[in-house]
Parts: sequence; structure tokens; C-alpha cells
Amino acid sequence: MIIAGVNMLVAALVFAILIPWLPMIVLSVILVGGLIVLMLGNFVTILSGLSKRTERRCTICQLVITGRAFPIWKNPHYELVHHDYYVWLKGSTNNFFLVAVPSIVILASSEYLWLEYGGVYSYFAGLTVLAWVIFGFSWPVHYWRKVRGFKRGWMNNHQV
Ligand SMILES: [Zn+2]
Repeated sequence: MIIAGVNMLVAALVFAILIPWLPMIVLSVILVGGLIVLMLGNFVTILSGLSKRTERRCTICQLVITGRAFPIWKNPHYELVHHDYYVWLKGSTNNFFLVAVPSIVILASSEYLWLEYGGVYSYFAGLTVLAWVIFGFSWPVHYWRKVRGFKRGWMNNHQV
């Protein structure tokens, strides 16, 4: 899904270059659609990585774990064994939604203002799209960095 989102963004750029007479509304729909798919893709990838179908292993210590898989921090293994990861994941997931939900609203309304009134709103729309692209790429990078950090910390403490 991340690849699909990136493809849609690239498609919007290619269309904009190849077909200059294409209406702006079509481009911005593809662009916004691509960004939304990209965000969903990030989210689904992380979720499916956390809850494997048959045998689930702990993200940090690779131990086979049982119990509820969603939301991930409700699993007692994380709460008891990797308490710092548990606290961080809980907080950052809340932050993610706090940032993601309003930003969808801002993005949609800025696109609307741009198409409706143009002019100075085009800068506003451009900025929000840019902010989204940065957020869409930096959040998963930040997530996996953090997880790697927790993993390393665990290995240092528990290896003989
Ligand atoms: Zn574990």
C-alpha cells in the first residue's frame, strides 16, 4: 500500500508534466488520494507486522507471545516485560492519531480553498501537502528507529 501511495503521487506528477491541460481537480484528487493511501499503507504495514497470523513473536525479544494482539500495548507481554516500549508505543500511537486526523481535515480544506479561490491558497495547499509528505515518510522511519533502539537495549541487557 505504501508503494501504491507513492505510485499515485508519481502518477500525479507525471500527468501534470505530460498533460498540461488536465484539470487541476483531477490532479489534486490523485495527489490527495495518493497521500491518504500512503498513510494507510504505513499504518497497515505496522499493524500487520505486529500481529502475524499463526505464530506471533515479540517485536523486541522475538519470543512467541500469546494474548490479545490489538491494540498491541494491551498484550501483557509488552506491559510486563518491555514496559518502556509499552509506554512509548501507547503514547506515540495517541500522538499519531492526534496529528493524523486533524491533518487530514487541514489538507482537505486547504485543497478545497485552493481549488475554489486559488491565489494565495495555492501556497497554503502546497505547504500542507509538503508537510504531509514529510510526515508520511518520517513517521515510519521514526517508528522503526525507536523499535531498533528498544531491541538493542533488550539484547544488551539479556545476552550472556
Ligand atoms: Zn518480548
